[in-house]
Order: sequence, then C-alpha cells, then structure tokens
Amino acid sequence: MKEILVIATGGTIASSDEGNGLTPHYNVSELISFIPEAESKFTITGKMLMNIDSSNMTPKCWVKIARAIKDHYEEYEGFVITHGTDTMAYSSAALTYMLKGLSKPVILTGSQYSIEEKCTDALQNLGDALNFATEEIAGVFIVFDGKLICGTRAMKVKTKSYDAFESVNFPYVAEIKHGRITYNKYISAHFKPKSEPFVLRDKVCDNIVVLKIFPGIDTELFNFIQNRYRGIIIESFGIGGIPFENRDVISKIKEMTDSNIAVVVTTQCLEEGVDLGIYEVGKKLPINKIIYASDMNTEALVPKLMCALGMSENLSEIKKYIEMPIMFDINRDC
Ligand code: ASP
Repeated sequence: MKEILVIATGGTIASSDEGNGLTPHYNVSELISFIPEAESKFTITGKMLMNIDSSNMTPKCWVKIARAIKDHYEEYEGFVITHGTDTMAYSSAALTYMLKGLSKPVILTGSQYSIEEKCTDALQNLGDALNFATEEIAGVFIVFDGKLICGTRAMKVKTKSYDAFESVNFPYVAEIKHGRITYNKYISAHFKPKSEPFVLRDKVCDNIVVLKIFPGIDTELFNFIQNRYRGIIIESFGIGGIPFENRDVISKIKEMTDSNIAVVVTTQCLEEGVDLGIYEVGKKLPINKIIYASDMNTEALVPKLMCALGMSENLSEIKKYIEMPIMFDINRDC
C-alpha cells in the first residue's frame, strides 16, 4: 500500500464550536478516523504541526510545514496538508517556492464545513486529496470540490459554497469524481515528476506590504512605507492604472524604487493580469525598476516577494526572480 503523510494544521475541517465560535479541535488521528475506508487503501501516518485557524497562519508556519516535508521526503509517496481555507492559497504558493524541484505531490485541502457536520465537504475533499497524493504528479496543489488546482494559481472566491476555490488564469489540472481522476490532457504532462534536485528554500523576509489603490488615496502613506518596508505589492486599477494627477502615486513609486524598495505592480482585477504599455497612467511607471506581475495573483506574489527578499538584497536579482515563471504562476504570453 502506498504511504502518505497527512500533516494537520487546523482550519474549519478540524473545527468544533464549544462556545467561542468555530475553533480547531480535532487532532490528526481523529481527522483520519473520519474516513476509515481510506485506511484500507493507503498506509496513512499523521503529523500534527499546529492546530490554528488559517487567519493566524504566518510565514514562520510556512517554513515549519516546508521543513516537515523536507524531513520526511524520502519516507512517503505523497503528502496531504489539512489547512484552513482562508489563507490556503497563500500557503500553497509559499510551499511551491520553498520546495524547489519536488518530484512528489504535496496536496493541500480543507473544507467549508467542519468534518463533524452532516453537510460537510471535508470527507470528500480529504478523500480526494489522499487519492491525488498517490498519483504520479509533482508539485504543490490544492484539492477542493473535486478540482486539482496548481498551487500558484488558486484563489478563494467564495465564503460559503463548496466550490470555494478558483484556478485563476490557468486551467484546472484535473478533476475527480467518485475517485475517478480525469487530467486536463493539454497540461498534465507538465506536472509529471522530473529528475531535478530537491532543495528547501526557507529564507523568507516578511517585511512587505500589500496595498490596493483606491480613488482619493493619501500619498503620505508611501512615506511611511518607504521608511519601514523592503517590498510593496501595489494592486493597481484595471490593466495597470496608477494615479499621477491630484494624488501623484507614480512619483511616490519612483521615490521608493530609488530607495531600493522592491515595488511590484499587479492589478485588482481577478483575471488577465497587467499590461503597463497601454495607458498613460501605466506608461509613466519606471518600467525597468518596478517589478512586473504579469498575470500572477496576489496570493502567489506575497510569498514570492518574501522568498525573493529572503534570498537577495539586490533589486535586479529580486526583480529577475519574481518575473521568472515558477510552476505556472505566470503565463509567458502575458
Ligand atoms: N477560518 C477558517 C480557516 O481558514 C476557514 C476555513 O478553514 O474554511 O482556518
């Protein structure tokens, strides 16, 4: 039987309400015991790393998870991480950047409703995740509502429904129904294991800020950011609009890049990414100095910027790393 390591971190899937609202409660053995049929198919070992609501997840927690996988890498065919849904997309991208050259599946899953509830989606999601964890695929993925999503492309788009996750700007890698897996034939070959060396990259610098531009934004804010942070991700308007009249954010961006701050420009739109060459409000940006997010989502940009800042202090190296596609986080045509 194939050996799987289930790493539990908390989330709704493990939660119960004992008077203070839903709080992670079930330990990893209890979680596994909810699906006895899986234990006749796989040899499952449980490891409890933390039991937290994923709103409390931090980059230090990502490092802890990444190190656990590195420590047990040779012992198991695949890994399942049970995780809260709220920040699962950040964690799946973070693990992608930290676990370079994976040749095995690392599957994150969770649920919208606790495993103890009648209407729970946890049994399906956990069962599906275990099935994918023994497939011949390599990389970090989210399994949710019957979909296998590339770890750098996931986004939580619904707060209540079972189909909470979307794969943004990238197709689903596979679907699973009643245990039967159908791969997307156009992309599945890219997720086959390759013989690259497996390396843990666990240096992260979390000294960053994410800022959504809004009409009327106070540019004083950037003086504070400039004195305090090493990196900023700016969610611009539409295809890459940043104000320069009345509220001159573009000048502030120039000041920040001149002060060696990594400035990433992305969009607040869900799909299709940025193109700064179309409007005056985008063309005025110092294109050689800012970091161009293409069609990456913010959930991937946050850990990618943290990893880049952890690896280097040199702005052009940081820019090069972030603009380089890693596990389909960027569409090359963008
Ligand atoms: N607040 C929960 C968490 O992210 C939500 C969930 O798991 O669905 O931990």
